[in-house]
Amino acid sequence: MNISDSERIASVLESIKYAETSDIAEADLVVVTMCSVRQSAVDRVHGLTQKFKKIREINPKLKTILTGCILKKDKKIFIKGFDYIIDIKDIVQLVEIARQQIRSVPRKAILHGLPKAKNCRELSEPRAGGASDSGELLPSDYLEIVPKYSSKFSANVPIMTGCNNFCAYCVVPYTREREISRSAKEIICEIKNLVKKGYKEIWLLGQNVNSYKDGKNNFPKLLKIVNDIPGDFWIRFTSSHPKDFSDELIRAMADCDKLPKYLNLPVQAGDDKILKKMNRPYTVAQYKILIKKIKKAMPDISLSTDIIVGFPGETKKQFENTAKLFRDIKFDMAYINKYSTRAGTAAAKLKDNILPAEKKRREKFLTEILKQTALQKNKELIDKKTIILIENKKNDFWIGKNGQYKTVKIYPIKSATGGSPPKVGQFNLVKITEAMAWALKGKITNE
Ligand code: SAH
Ligand code: SF4
Repeated sequence: MNISDSERIASVLESIKYAETSDIAEADLVVVTMCSVRQSAVDRVHGLTQKFKKIREINPKLKTILTGCILKKDKKIFIKGFDYIIDIKDIVQLVEIARQQIRSVPRKAILHGLPKAKNCRELSEPRAGGASDSGELLPSDYLEIVPKYSSKFSANVPIMTGCNNFCAYCVVPYTREREISRSAKEIICEIKNLVKKGYKEIWLLGQNVNSYKDGKNNFPKLLKIVNDIPGDFWIRFTSSHPKDFSDELIRAMADCDKLPKYLNLPVQAGDDKILKKMNRPYTVAQYKILIKKIKKAMPDISLSTDIIVGFPGETKKQFENTAKLFRDIKFDMAYINKYSTRAGTAAAKLKDNILPAEKKRREKFLTEILKQTALQKNKELIDKKTIILIENKKNDFWIGKNGQYKTVKIYPIKSATGGSPPKVGQFNLVKITEAMAWALKGKITNE
C-alpha cells in the first residue's frame, strides 16, 4: 500500500515539474511514505531524520515531507525532523507546499494539471465527496490520482483503504482510519488501461479486501468483473481477513482463470485464547475448516499466512499451539512478526512480557517448521511445467514468480537450443528442476 501511495505522490510531483533524482544531495524535496505497523519501521524514519540533518549542511534548500501511516504521538516527535507532515489522503497539499518552491506556477494551473483519471471519471457515477465541479481534486479522491507505476509489468491497484476491524495489536485503523472502497468503475477503468499497456500482473490492494463494497459489487463480484477483462494477465490480491472469507469468494477464486491459485490468509496465532485477546473473531478450528474448504475448491492452492509471536501473555503452551497449526496446515510461506507494542492500540494496555530473546526463539522455531513444509511443497513441483512471470535478470540466471507466488530462478541465462531469450515482464513456460525451501530452480521449455 505504501508503494502504491508513493506512486501517486511521484505522479503529483511530476505533474508539477519535479524530476526524480537518486542523489539526495541535489534534491529539492524528499517525501517519505512511512509505515507504523512495527516500531522497527518507525525507527528507520528516525534514522532518516538524522541523515537529513547532515544533508542540509551541504544542501540547505532541501525540504522534507513525511506522509503514510503515522501515529498521532509520532507526529509530535517527527515534526521536529521534517518540514511538513501531511496525511496521505491530503497529498493534494503537496501542490501547495511545492508551490512555495516553484512560485512561478499559479496554484490554479497546478491543480488543474493533476493527473486525474479523467476518462474513468466520465464512466463513474457522481459520488459524495468526489471531485468538485471545477475538476479540482479533493482529499477523498486521492486514490483517483493516476499513479506513476514503478513497474512496467506489475501494478498495484488499491480497491479500498482503511480498516474497521481494530485487531488489538494493530495501528492501521488509527493511521488509515475507516474503510473506504473505490468505485468499481474506476478500478476497472484503471485495470483496462493497464492491460492495454501490456501489464501482466494486477495486485488488488486493501487492508481487508474482503470487505470491499461498492453498491451491489462486493469483492467476489469485483474479482469476476476483473477476470472478464480481455487480456493475458494475472490477478492477485492482498490482504484478506479470515472472518470475511465467504463461500462466494472461494467460488469466485476457483472460477477466475486469471487468478493464479495463491492465497495469503493471515491467521496471526494458533491459539484460541490469544486470538480472542487479539480481537480476531475466529477460532483455530474455524480457520482450519476454512482452509479445508479452500483446498477442496482449489487443490493446488499455495497458502501463506501472517503470524505474530510473543503477543502479551502468550505462554509457551499457547505458542506450541501455533507451531502445531503450522505443522498441520503446512504453509507454503509465512510472514512471521515479533510482537511490537503500538501506542494507542488495545494491546498497548497489556504488559509486553515476552522478552525479545524469547520472541526471537519463537520466530526461529516457526521458521524451521516452515522451512520443512515449504521444501516439501516445493519438491512436489519438480519436473512439472509452470508459467513464470519473469521479474529480473541477474548475472547468470533470470528470476521470477510462478502463479503460486514461488520464486523461481531460471538457468541457463542463454537458451541452449538458440531459441529467443525470455524477457523481463513476460510469461514464460519453465520446467522445474530443483527445489529449495525458499525458491525453485528451472529451465525454459517450449514443449
Ligand atoms: N489486514 C491484515 C494485516 C495488515 S498488517 C490482516 O488482517 O491480517 C500486516 C501484518 O503486520 C499483520 O498481518 C501482522 O502479522 C503484522 N503486525 C501488525 N501489527 C503488528 C504488531 N503490533 N506487532 C507485530 N506485527 C504486527
Ligand atoms: Fe490491522 Fe488487518 Fe486487523 Fe485491520 S484487519 S486491524 S489492518 S491486522
